[in-house]
Amino acid sequence: MRRRLFWSIFAVAMAVFAACSAVSLGALYGYHSEQLRRQLEQETVWLAAAVESAGTGFLYGSGDADWQRVTLIDTDGDVLYDSDVDPDTMENHGRRDEVVQARAAGNGWSVRYSGTLETRTLNYALLLTDGSVLRVSCTEQTLPALLAALWLPLLLVAVLALVLALVLSWRTARALVRPVNAIDLERPDEGAVYPELRPLIARINEQNRQIRRQMELLTEEHRRQDRMRQEFTANVSHELKTPLTSISGYAELMREGIARPEDVPGFAARIYDEAQRLQNLVGDIIQLSRLEEADSPLAETEIDLYQLCRQVAQRFRLPAERQSVTIAAEGGPVVVRASERVLTEMVGNLCDNAIKYNRHGGRVTLRAAREGGCAVLTVEDTGIGIPPEDQARVFERFYRVDKSHSRAVGGTGLGLSIVKHGAARHQIALSLESRPGEGTRVTLRFPPERLIQKSNISSGSPD
Ligand code: ADP
Repeated sequence: MRRRLFWSIFAVAMAVFAACSAVSLGALYGYHSEQLRRQLEQETVWLAAAVESAGTGFLYGSGDADWQRVTLIDTDGDVLYDSDVDPDTMENHGRRDEVVQARAAGNGWSVRYSGTLETRTLNYALLLTDGSVLRVSCTEQTLPALLAALWLPLLLVAVLALVLALVLSWRTARALVRPVNAIDLERPDEGAVYPELRPLIARINEQNRQIRRQMELLTEEHRRQDRMRQEFTANVSHELKTPLTSISGYAELMREGIARPEDVPGFAARIYDEAQRLQNLVGDIIQLSRLEEADSPLAETEIDLYQLCRQVAQRFRLPAERQSVTIAAEGGPVVVRASERVLTEMVGNLCDNAIKYNRHGGRVTLRAAREGGCAVLTVEDTGIGIPPEDQARVFERFYRVDKSHSRAVGGTGLGLSIVKHGAARHQIALSLESRPGEGTRVTLRFPPERLIQKSNISSGSPD
């Protein structure tokens, strides 16, 4: 900025200097020329008056002025007298401009340039009463010749102007830039600055505010994540400890021989259940942490959601039957691009919940369809439902509406968390509608870019 300002100021200074020099030199030269003309006219009038009263003899006794030449031309144009040259050697002057004008109008002017254009001759002629013409001439240097003659002083003035312009431009640019450089970006209001900079200062202030707000949000988010991590660790330890305590307790009873032989199968069954629970928990934790690693790419393939629904329904048929729950897959082929492993896990978890939290004789429906250019998969049940105040929280890790019920049905509290993370990794919009006592419907709406167009809508029969 300083460099640009410097060159701008310098250029303006030099332009002003050049323009001023040209104008003043021109004006001076013009003034000087005008003065010379007047002087010549006066001189001629004075000489004419003298010749009229004292006769031509006056000319011979008048002596020569350095700067002027006097010529007397008779009515035929012959030169009677010339102060510089012998009149006999001079040609006829009857046709000279100034002489012709003087004869016609009483006085005449002419300007003649020398061959080299360095000087010019000014001629002023007056008609005398006897018909002869008195002409007085003087030479004057032309402007270019004058400039050429004055080159050294002019050069000195130019160099002086150049040096002055350089120094002053540099100092001015520095002085202009200093307040801008002095702006403290942290506290831009404090510096004394130009009013023109106020919009900029206002923007810096606004940006500072935004940065501060972002920092606060980031810190808050950081804290929240820290808190969540701590809670998660505490929850995991707790969830691991409970089954382990049971397992080691029953195992100890059996090892010490305290357990009666008829109790042993029951204890073994409990150990098996708790080990199963541990297995599920560890499996879910691994699944969740894999999904949380946003950097690790998911292996995506083309999957028909309808086929996926049928497979999951098939897989859960037996557990459903144990709960007297019927399970069905509906809809038609809808092909999307997604990770099959993650999607199967997500739909599996939803289906598992729909069965676990269902009622005797209830129903679970998995549906794949295309809706307005999007692929949609829903898992619907006729179960116990989720109270409105819990609906937003069931996707949190280890959040359960009814902890003992969840434990009794073998829940880990991580199923919906895995669904939420899986959905986020696929940019799937996840929504939950539920009415306590009536049932729950979870909808996965895939973004349009995941839909593979070759899939057609065709309503399949319930599976
Ligand atoms: P869990 O392993 O306990 O099932 P989830 O994360 O899958 O954990 O679900 C969290 C909680 O949300 C469950 O404990 C349950 O209270 C509630 N929930 C989830 N799905 C349903 C459903 N289909 N019907 C009723 N309640 C549900």
